[in-house]
Amino acid sequence: MSVLIYAENAAGKFKKSTFEAVSYAKAIADQAGTNLIAISIGNVAADDLAALGKYGAEKVLNVSNDKLKNFVNQAYASVIAEAAKAKGADIVVLSNSFSGRGLAPRIGVKLHAGVADGAVALPVLDGGKFTVKKTAFSGKAFATVELTSANKVIALTPNSYKVVESSAAGQVEDFTVETKESDFKAMIKDIVRSTDKVSLPDAEIVVSAGRGLKGPENWGMVEELAGLLGAATACSKPVSDAGWRPHSEHVGQTGIAVSPNLYIAIGISGAIQHLAGVSSSKVIVVINKDAEAPFFKVADYGIVGDAFEVLPKLIDAVKAY
Ligand code: FAD
Repeated sequence: MSVLIYAENAAGKFKKSTFEAVSYAKAIADQAGTNLIAISIGNVAADDLAALGKYGAEKVLNVSNDKLKNFVNQAYASVIAEAAKAKGADIVVLSNSFSGRGLAPRIGVKLHAGVADGAVALPVLDGGKFTVKKTAFSGKAFATVELTSANKVIALTPNSYKVVESSAAGQVEDFTVETKESDFKAMIKDIVRSTDKVSLPDAEIVVSAGRGLKGPENWGMVEELAGLLGAATACSKPVSDAGWRPHSEHVGQTGIAVSPNLYIAIGISGAIQHLAGVSSSKVIVVINKDAEAPFFKVADYGIVGDAFEVLPKLIDAVKAY
């Protein structure tokens, strides 16, 4: 018995959410009194693979295969499930990232495993029961689910578990899996980053704005504040629908779900569909000129005021800090 963690990389580099997931998986392995094995797919440097040991992975399986260079949902799920079978892992952990959300149910089917996606806390093992707290209804609520199957898949919400470093390096081992043609019906040929800005799903701080900003010409203030805070920029759906901002910035039920340490919402009403993607943020700051805006109900801090007056003052204050 062991725990297998899928260590996701972006362009060959592990992300912070991967280290969180490895630390989380290590804690599960410790709870179960077993060891932790990591699996990496794609071209990651040997030193980076071994460095996963710092977060608790005793062994790191390296699957380096040209066909698997870019993420392919079905094929990656097959590789991870085969590794779990080969290594006798009955718990598979991964990050509930964009790719993790696609992988978790597929791995679950292949391993006949119960799936807890969007986990936000360590499982509780009590009297033979294995329960996991997770987000439900697009982040609007939490549910505690019991996984009764022998095999289990848990996808951890980014930014909900701390990165914990221990000292040892992991032992890297090449792992080969026969891939099936049927797993490659749709493939990503190339990934080109369109920006050097902070990636929205991984951002620790997000500065987000809505229709209250009136038009795309006013986003300079949002970008300046985000730049000063090292934050990613985001927006409400109508803003991206109108073409004021790219669709990749749209957060909410039909967009990206974020869970940063700080979410600053400027001129966004706080419709339930928007909150669905941001409500697991640790601290929410709302700036809105309407004191009755629904967003204030979920805000930790609120500023009732005109964004065109508040934002320049906020930018000056951050610059002076
Ligand atoms: P508005 O509702 O127009 O609100 C603008 C806010 O700005 C107001 O609160 C106003 O008081 C404030 N304001 C105006 N001027 C200023 C100023 N000068 N200074 C400060 N504040 C000011 N929306 C999403 O965001 N994400 C989704 O994923 C999403 N999915 C949806 C899915 C479905 C099926 C449906 C039906 C809707 C979805 N929506 C989604 C749309 C959602 O219901 C809201 O319409 C949308 O979030 C509103 O965007 P907004 O807050 O930017 O605009």
